[in-house]
Amino acid sequence: MEAYPDDRAARRAFITATRPVVDRTFDLGIPAGTTIDEEPDAPGRPVRVGTIFLTGAECPWRCAMCDLWQHTITGPTPPGAIPAQIRAAVQSLAPIATGVRHIKLYNAGSFFDARAIPESDDDAIAHLVASFDRVIVESHPALLGRRLVAFKERLRRAAERRDASSDARGPALEVAVGVETAHPEALERLDKHVTLDDLRRAGDILAEVGAALRAFLLINPPFVPHDEQDHWLVESVRFAEACGARVVSLIPTRSGNGTMEVLERCGLFRRPSLADVERAFAACLALDARPFVLVDLWDFDRVAACGRCAAARRERLRQMNLAQRVLPVVDCPDCGNGRAA
Ligand code: SF4
Ligand SMILES: [Zn+2]
Repeated sequence: MEAYPDDRAARRAFITATRPVVDRTFDLGIPAGTTIDEEPDAPGRPVRVGTIFLTGAECPWRCAMCDLWQHTITGPTPPGAIPAQIRAAVQSLAPIATGVRHIKLYNAGSFFDARAIPESDDDAIAHLVASFDRVIVESHPALLGRRLVAFKERLRRAAERRDASSDARGPALEVAVGVETAHPEALERLDKHVTLDDLRRAGDILAEVGAALRAFLLINPPFVPHDEQDHWLVESVRFAEACGARVVSLIPTRSGNGTMEVLERCGLFRRPSLADVERAFAACLALDARPFVLVDLWDFDRVAACGRCAAARRERLRQMNLAQRVLPVVDCPDCGNGRAA
């Protein structure tokens, strides 16, 4: 009988045991991918943001909803691999030609995890990204400490070396933290090993260091009753705002890691539909919160169902990310979207 364990010690074994078998051999000399998106940088001012998907060691935590381990290796990342991937990615992003000013270094784990990114690579990494206006990395709250402070200083020094004539402060540093949900019991059951207090402290640390906070929130996280999802998402945006977030990024919860399929069968998780995503995003924008609230569209195809209106609805959400307000609903004669029941 499959059931998600209440006991913490049993959870990790359960999450590991439900994983599907996947090939985890990767070429560590090249990044897993790159993409360019637009985000608001100030009201009405979009900025082009490049993302580099880096491949390295698996994250030591094993959150119930995480599928990122499928893009990681089982051993530690060898020194030099991450700078090599960033070098290749920056070349392919061609920031001067494409106008990319912000860069995300996403490593499917924590940037400040020594097993995932050896600290000996930090100088080389800082040098490679020093010309961007903003550098965004991701980290578990438990790893925000000495290395964060040192990396910020490395960015400053690298920018100074590039332009000795100026008093360059270096790129702004932003750390993306998986806040996931402000529902305390659901957060505990996700097995992220963080509490709301830990997340508040993470916000304080980042503010002290002079780094920005980007909060990842899940749309339809498991363990939150279905009829309370919108309420808790709105609460979560308020919570992220109170933690000092500059950006809140809403991520439709994905299945596909084995554990989520079990939770679905147990009635503890319901995959968000496109209508869920649209409704949740609109509710968050209506808050008029201080952070930019964005919906993540990287996995849009997973939630799109109707071939006739999918592209228009994706474009509406993209425009809402930039405008930071709710735009008219797309009307569709095929699926009935936008029409009264
Ligand atoms: S901390 Fe982040 S990367 Fe690590 S297991 Fe949890 S969700 Fe995945
Ligand atoms: Zn449709």
